[in-house]
Amino acid sequence: MRYVSTRQGSTLSWGVIEGQQVRLLGELPAARGRTLGQTLRDHALDELLADAAHAPLVARQDLTLLPPITDANKIICVGLNYADHVAEMNRPTPEKPVIFTRFADTLVGPDEALIAPALSEQFDYEGEFTIVIGTGGRYIPAAHALDHVFGYTIMNDGSVRDFQRHTHQFTPGKNFPRSGSLGPEIVSVDEFGEVGTQEITTRINGETVQRSSLDQLVFNVPELIAYCSQWTALAPGDLIATGTPGGVGDGHDPKRWLRDGECLEVEVAGIGTLRNPVAAEDSKSSA
Ligand code: MG
Repeated sequence: MRYVSTRQGSTLSWGVIEGQQVRLLGELPAARGRTLGQTLRDHALDELLADAAHAPLVARQDLTLLPPITDANKIICVGLNYADHVAEMNRPTPEKPVIFTRFADTLVGPDEALIAPALSEQFDYEGEFTIVIGTGGRYIPAAHALDHVFGYTIMNDGSVRDFQRHTHQFTPGKNFPRSGSLGPEIVSVDEFGEVGTQEITTRINGETVQRSSLDQLVFNVPELIAYCSQWTALAPGDLIATGTPGGVGDGHDPKRWLRDGECLEVEVAGIGTLRNPVAAEDSKSSA
């Protein structure tokens, strides 16, 4: 199954894709106005799926897509998790996953504009395969980690490189408002199947700038879930972005920063394409 979060006028909802339509489970009375994330946290999804025939079907083209999870309790990001990206960043191969976090307001949905900050020229892209947690837990063994996955989606872990490097902590450079994106949809773990040789590709204005496959991850999906659940309690709807392959703008010579008017696409085989235009920030005071 494929899940999306949606807006139609001022109405926020979510549902499952049926061809060119979306079955809006969020409109069912039993959904009680909950987001997809809250539905997962309340363990209410199965009840709503059982009643799906009573949910309205709306044409996809009549809906604006939001980030598929709009209200994650935790957005965990993994750095330096592909060997070619470790090399281009001139860093040693990590012995443990490199972890930082993003705030929810840093992520826009599909087709929404990414905002290139006024304070920096160094606005960069990072296409990433992203885990959506379905069942929470702590001390999850790697052997059982996939039982805790709801599905997979795509993140652009948009990065402001100078702010990322002001100190040894990544947080400022990874949290400019609307600097990243998530979507277009979540593919359930059973539909996606085994994480293996699926390609991950990033394009700017149609030109490929990153290309790798998911079997190149330094720490794989079970290892990341096991590690993160050692130091935090994972909850339904939490996101773990698994890191980006080589080819980020910072690794180009000359460096290749995102500019106003460009179009960024991140594609993962089996999920789809997350597409976002880039717009310059209007002023340093904009929200
Ligand atoms: Mg990243």
